[in-house]
Amino acid sequence: MALSIVRDLCTACGDCEPVCPTQSITPFKGVYKIEADTCTECEEEFDVPQCLDVCMEDDCIVTA
Ligand code: SF4
Ligand code: SF4
Repeated sequence: MALSIVRDLCTACGDCEPVCPTQSITPFKGVYKIEADTCTECEEEFDVPQCLDVCMEDDCIVTA
Protein backbone atom coordinates (compact mmCIF):
# COMPACT_ATOMS: atom_id res chain seq x y z
CA MET A 1 0.00 0.00 0.00
CA ALA A 2 1.09 3.53 -0.67
CA LEU A 3 -0.11 7.07 -0.51
CA SER A 4 0.05 9.50 -3.38
CA ILE A 5 0.15 13.26 -3.80
CA VAL A 6 -2.59 14.97 -5.81
CA ARG A 7 -0.45 17.21 -7.96
CA ASP A 8 -3.16 19.83 -8.53
CA LEU A 9 -3.40 20.39 -4.76
CA CYS A 10 0.30 20.24 -3.89
CA THR A 11 1.80 23.69 -3.31
CA ALA A 12 5.35 22.29 -3.46
CA CYS A 13 6.04 23.57 0.06
CA GLY A 14 8.38 20.63 0.60
CA ASP A 15 7.33 20.00 4.20
CA CYS A 16 6.61 16.33 3.57
CA GLU A 17 9.96 15.42 2.04
CA PRO A 18 12.15 15.39 5.18
CA VAL A 19 9.61 13.62 7.42
CA CYS A 20 9.31 10.50 5.27
CA PRO A 21 11.12 7.61 6.97
CA THR A 22 11.61 5.76 3.70
CA GLN A 23 12.77 8.71 1.55
CA SER A 24 9.87 8.07 -0.79
CA ILE A 25 9.01 11.72 -1.42
CA THR A 26 10.91 13.61 -4.08
CA PRO A 27 10.46 16.75 -6.18
CA PHE A 28 8.78 15.93 -9.48
CA LYS A 29 7.67 18.27 -12.27
CA GLY A 30 7.38 21.31 -10.04
CA VAL A 31 5.54 19.61 -7.19
CA TYR A 32 6.29 16.45 -5.20
CA LYS A 33 5.57 12.81 -5.68
CA ILE A 34 5.52 9.65 -3.58
CA GLU A 35 7.32 6.57 -4.84
CA ALA A 36 4.69 3.85 -4.53
CA ASP A 37 7.26 1.05 -4.52
CA THR A 38 8.90 2.24 -1.30
CA CYS A 39 6.09 4.02 0.57
CA THR A 40 5.06 1.89 3.53
CA GLU A 41 2.31 4.24 4.73
CA CYS A 42 4.66 4.54 7.73
CA GLU A 43 3.15 1.37 9.16
CA GLU A 44 6.36 0.07 10.70
CA GLU A 45 7.59 3.36 12.11
CA PHE A 46 4.62 5.53 13.13
CA ASP A 47 0.95 5.45 14.09
CA VAL A 48 0.01 7.84 11.29
CA PRO A 49 1.52 8.56 7.87
CA GLN A 50 4.00 11.33 8.52
CA CYS A 51 3.49 13.10 5.19
CA LEU A 52 -0.26 13.23 5.80
CA ASP A 53 0.35 14.57 9.28
CA VAL A 54 2.53 17.44 8.08
CA CYS A 55 0.74 18.44 4.85
CA MET A 56 -1.43 21.55 5.32
CA GLU A 57 -3.43 21.10 2.13
CA ASP A 58 -6.74 19.25 2.52
CA ASP A 59 -7.03 16.07 0.44
CA CYS A 60 -3.60 16.58 -1.10
CA ILE A 61 -2.22 13.23 0.06
CA VAL A 62 -4.52 10.29 -0.57
CA THR A 63 -4.51 6.50 -0.71
CA ALA A 64 -3.18 5.51 -4.09
S1 SF4 B 1 3.14 7.50 4.11
FE1 SF4 B 1 5.09 7.52 5.19
S2 SF4 B 1 6.43 6.23 3.91
FE2 SF4 B 1 4.71 6.87 2.62
S3 SF4 B 1 5.39 8.73 1.60
FE3 SF4 B 1 4.25 9.35 3.45
S4 SF4 B 1 5.84 9.63 4.99
FE4 SF4 B 1 6.75 8.40 3.34
S1 SF4 C 1 3.44 18.88 2.35
FE1 SF4 C 1 1.67 18.70 0.95
S2 SF4 C 1 1.65 20.63 -0.20
FE2 SF4 C 1 3.67 20.43 0.76
S3 SF4 C 1 4.99 19.46 -0.82
FE3 SF4 C 1 4.15 17.83 0.49
S4 SF4 C 1 2.28 17.16 -0.55
FE4 SF4 C 1 2.82 19.15 -1.41
